[in-house]
Order: sequence, then C-alpha cells, then structure tokens
Amino acid sequence: MIAANLQAVRSTLSDGVKLIAVSKTHPNEAIMEAYQAGHRVFGENKVQEMTDKYNDLPKDIEWHLIGHLQTNKVKYIAPFVSLIHAVDSLKLLMEINKQAAKNNRVIDCLLQLHVAQEETKFGMDGEEVIQLLNSHEYKDMQHIRIVGVMAMATNTSNEDQIRIEFRSVKQIFHDLKRDFFATSDHFREISTGMSSDYLIAKEEGSTMIRVGSSIFGSRG
Ligand SMILES: *Cc1c(COP(=O)(O)O)cnc(C)c1O
Repeated sequence: MIAANLQAVRSTLSDGVKLIAVSKTHPNEAIMEAYQAGHRVFGENKVQEMTDKYNDLPKDIEWHLIGHLQTNKVKYIAPFVSLIHAVDSLKLLMEINKQAAKNNRVIDCLLQLHVAQEETKFGMDGEEVIQLLNSHEYKDMQHIRIVGVMAMATNTSNEDQIRIEFRSVKQIFHDLKRDFFATSDHFREISTGMSSDYLIAKEEGSTMIRVGSSIFGSRG
C-alpha cells in the first residue's frame, strides 16, 4: 500500500523535484515499508519523534525537520539532521550555526516565508528575510548553508489562491537569488506543496514537495 502510494506520487513528478515522505505520527514499520521500496528521505515536525526514529532506523535515511523548530531543541537534531526547512528567525539560525559547529558540521537550511492568509502560520516576509541576510551575524556564520526557501499555502479549496501564493514564493526566491546568492549554486530549493496542493506547487516551481497523508494515509 505505502509502496504503491509512493510510486503514484513519484510518477507525477519530474526529475528535478525531490519527494520528502512526511512520516510524522506514523510508526517505524510504516517508514520501513517505504524504505524497503527504496525511499530514503523522510520529514518529521517534532524533534523528539525525529530523534527517536533516527536512533531506531537505518542510518542512510535523510531526515528533514519540516515543522517549527524551537531554539532550545536544535541541539538534539544537530548531529544528524539533513535539512531544516522552517528557519524563521535570525536567533534560530544563530543557534543552528552554534550547534552545527559543535558537531563539526555545516547544516543546510531553508528560510520559511509567510505567504498564507492564516495568521497562525510561521514564517518571514520578504523584508524580514532581507534584514536577516544583511545582518553581520548572518555573514559571520560558517556552519549553516541557506539552500532555498520553504512555505505553506493557505489551507483552502481555492486553487487560484494557492497558486498565487506559490507564485509569490517563487518570485521571492528569484529576487533573493539575484540579490544575495547570485554566485552560489547551493541556493536552489523551493520547498512547497503537501498532499492537497503539491500538483499546483510543482507547476509553480517547487523543487521539494512534502507529502504525508497521500503516502502513509490519514493521521487520524
Ligand atoms: C504535516 C506536514 C506536511 C504534510 O502534510 P500532508 O497533508 O499529510 O501531506 C507538509 N509540510 C509540513 C510543514 C507539515 O507539517
């Protein structure tokens, strides 16, 4: 079932788009089913849950932290996390840099953009991102690498609304690339799209989709 679902989602994607299988709340057995089917990239939104799964499961899995990250929890994932999707403040980025240094690592990060209409969603607007990237604290960081942006669209059935939001993410991405990362080939990821909207995200330039329920079933 999980293998077939994975295959179904994959078949809709072109080569340049990476599929993050969002396994939050699902047991190790479900992850191993996807693993046996050849999948290696999983997303979790809670630090404790991701750390437990990391300890129990094969070490060639790439773990992505996709949810809001509290500064005081960075230390638990710094030894192994492969990509942190939701960096939404300079303070958080400074802590990631510090913990990455302790682990002799450079941790890849995405800047979370706020484009949805809901007030509850985390993320920065374009101005806040520019401030962060212009700060001397950021310029001194040796142990993080910003590889792109991440966003969530409004939870709505209005596809035009979702498309407009993803399009604005793509626009901000291109502006940042031009103004801050013109000489870097690392800044190339747009993490947009979940089960309900990844087909739209893909059409609007997504390079990473984060899909949970369409692969593992509903979270009850
Ligand atoms: C849970 C979650 C997803 C996946 O959601 P589905 O609707 O199950 O595909 C994607 N991104 C984030 C940030 C999430 O928390």
